[in-house]
Amino acid sequence: MKISVIGAGVIGVTTALELVSHGHEVVVYEKGSGIAQQASFAASGFMGPGLVNAWTAPGMFSHQFKKWFLGESGIRVNSFLDIPVAWIWQWLRACRHPEFNLKLASLQRLAFYSQEVFKGVTEQYGLSYENSQGTLLLCRSETDLQDVELQLSLLKEAGIHYKALSATQTRALEPALSTETELWGSVCFPHDAVANCRQFTILAKQEAEQLGVVFKTGHEVLPLSASRPLHIQIADQEPALFDHVIVCAGVHSRDLVHKLGIHLPVQEVHGYSLSAALREELDAPACGVLDARHQVAIARSGQRIRVSGMCEIGQARKPSEENTSLLYKVLNDWFAGAARTQENVQVWRGTRDVMCDGVPVLGLSGVPGVWLNTGHGNHGWACSSGSARAIADMVSGRDCEIDLKGLGIERF
Ligand SMILES: Cc1cc2nc3c(=O)[nH]c(=O)nc-3n(C[C@H](O)[C@H](O)[C@H](O)COP(=O)(O)OP(=O)(O)OC[C@H]3O[C@@H](n4cnc5c(N)ncnc54)[C@H](O)[C@@H]3O)c2cc1C
Repeated sequence: MKISVIGAGVIGVTTALELVSHGHEVVVYEKGSGIAQQASFAASGFMGPGLVNAWTAPGMFSHQFKKWFLGESGIRVNSFLDIPVAWIWQWLRACRHPEFNLKLASLQRLAFYSQEVFKGVTEQYGLSYENSQGTLLLCRSETDLQDVELQLSLLKEAGIHYKALSATQTRALEPALSTETELWGSVCFPHDAVANCRQFTILAKQEAEQLGVVFKTGHEVLPLSASRPLHIQIADQEPALFDHVIVCAGVHSRDLVHKLGIHLPVQEVHGYSLSAALREELDAPACGVLDARHQVAIARSGQRIRVSGMCEIGQARKPSEENTSLLYKVLNDWFAGAARTQENVQVWRGTRDVMCDGVPVLGLSGVPGVWLNTGHGNHGWACSSGSARAIADMVSGRDCEIDLKGLGIERF
């Protein structure tokens, strides 16, 4: 079949690779001058089910408010006017048991499946990219651990392996951790990993191209029209007709499908990462670590250290010392001296597409032939390979290897 994919971030590229390996003729449209230049550019790179979180944990609102008050929250709201009331309402509704448990379990399942597919794809094509094995959730106090208890209990139910470690055990595993910062303990996810999302996306694109996928960069697709939803229209060009259209346009997906009567309850949430040259190997993290209290991730990526986090809602400000200071603080708290933070630091702001219930939208849009693989929020990299395989299976009329309950558009 002739299939178009809109968007060449990690989601669009992995989807195209799966579709072409299922025997389809694929064209990818990307409005930017290259691939993986938006949310997939300098993400933290954490993969695996261990640290995925639906952002709708019951009590999250009051919990975040408390953190805000204490100056510990990585959430900034630049303007409440930028958050639609409907989105807030739907988000609050999603922050309830048992809905939250179901959503989080779906997300963990997808991340777990993705990990398997990802390994297979990596082996099949012999891809080589920066990566490290294992992740640690660092808890400064017992309360930090209590905050993730529900998340852990669902992982346990799903049979996903993790281990709670004391402070001493944590330091033995991650010897570069600063002793000046109070550490209560950690949760170790030995099967999770950190890998370079952009690097993988570029390699996956090369493989897809070799298999026949056509990438049209610098091609901005106009919103799909209700009368001809399978026509891809680029300004000043003849429309191109496809058998299927897969929307993988990150934060722009909402506008692309709006005229079809599809309303994606998605909110733009900006995040930041700092990438700095490695200064001293012995001071650097061995695996990926996430500071549970501040939700700031630190990982080594080749010869660089990448620190990332923050949730900025509303009109994005210019990256400044003020909105990246938390990242520097957490880096200094745990791995002071690991990176050259005085020179050539790459400061990046990326925009996540966060659905009101915190999980992506995967499957048919309700309009025949138009499919959605979008709304991945904070976990698009972790869920990319599995989402891509699932969409390709569905489009090809095959049974999916994973239960996608709770991930379709019909839930709204
Ligand atoms: C600070 C930060 C840290 C993160 N850390 C992690 C992490 O550790 N683990 C993890 O799993 N995830 C992480 N994420 C999330 C992850 O980066 C995203 O979920 C993922 O990159 C989304 O990929 P995407 O392909 O959907 O979107 P994008 O990468 O944004 O790609 C969408 C593409 O569509 C194109 N496009 C849009 N509109 C059109 C149009 N009309 N026509 C043609 N092309 C169009 C855009 O130009 C863009 O290239 C992080 C995000 C941020 C911001």
